[in-house]
Amino acid sequence: MKKNLSAALLLLFVIFGSVVFLLFMPERFSSKPSSEEFYALGTFIRFQAWGENAPEALEAARISVQALENRFSLFSPSSEVEILNSAAGLEERLFSEESLFLFSKALEYAKRTKGAFDPTIGPLTQLWGIGTAKERIPSPEEIEKTLNLVDYQSFQIFPERGTAALPRKGQAVDLGAIAKGYAGDVVREVLGKHGISQALIDMGGNIVTLGNKPGGSPWRIGIQNPLEPRGKYLGILSLANASVVTSGNYERYFEKDGKRYHHIFDPFTGYPASQELLGVTVISPSSLEADALSTGLYVLGLSRGMQLATDLKGVEALFITSDRRVVGTPGTASIFTLTEESFSLEIR
Ligand code: AMP
Ligand code: MG
Repeated sequence: MKKNLSAALLLLFVIFGSVVFLLFMPERFSSKPSSEEFYALGTFIRFQAWGENAPEALEAARISVQALENRFSLFSPSSEVEILNSAAGLEERLFSEESLFLFSKALEYAKRTKGAFDPTIGPLTQLWGIGTAKERIPSPEEIEKTLNLVDYQSFQIFPERGTAALPRKGQAVDLGAIAKGYAGDVVREVLGKHGISQALIDMGGNIVTLGNKPGGSPWRIGIQNPLEPRGKYLGILSLANASVVTSGNYERYFEKDGKRYHHIFDPFTGYPASQELLGVTVISPSSLEADALSTGLYVLGLSRGMQLATDLKGVEALFITSDRRVVGTPGTASIFTLTEESFSLEIR
């Protein structure tokens, strides 16, 4: 039974796994890494760390991710997100400091992206059911009715009382675009506290790197070619001490009458965001920021997304367009190499 489950999880990983995957140089590492692999937050997770303390550090990191899963999962009735959603339209509820932090970070990025990233997208995600057995194209009336509930400005947080609330019945928070990113930051912190200075964290394609690769050269991270099967990359990022997160229209979708319906919604139309872009990759010291922005910039589209990415300090982004261009912010010039010749590279 357990074996079947492992096989199923492995298969899931092969199908839905890393958007971004890792390339290792044929360079000899100074020591072998310790590693930890498990399934949590709806994805296959793989940690690698170097150093004496690595096994204990990785175990502590795994436990911290599993605790986050209990706190933020949409599927567990006891998660704090479920407590918030089930009290929508009724009353304020008390939350842990960590949940209040993540709620307020989600609101911060909703404001920064002018609502393109909206954590109150829950009713819309549920209506479309993309990636579930209930996926379907809703009627325009259903979409309009549901859109009335998507409104980050009405999501209330009262830090002084330790409470939060959704004022209208039917409203729901969905942290799917930010929770994994936050978990990446938590893992980095836990590893750091255990004295780890070189590690590679892969949470279903959300990558966090600590330090340089053993040997001193930067980590090399392949960026998925959105038009090819998983594992085919179109270029390589070389970096240290950074997080890399990609959002794309090829991660979760269904097709009907030749049209693709994917899982990143435009909160203004209620439909999957325009597919002018196939994907957006964000590089930031903060994995939470990279995750929130990869979703937000995808919704904003090339022109407005590029503007915002350029304005934000410490953030770099690569936009992959449906007409086979890779458009990068100025800072990507020194860290990104295009390897797929059917795409062209523009640095703006
Ligand atoms: P990501 O893969 O990080 O781009 O996150 C996509 C997930 O975030 C979806 O599966 C939804 O659960 C949720 N989501 C979809 N559209 C939005 C949006 N506009 N703002 C915030 N979350 C979203
Ligand atoms: Mg995201």
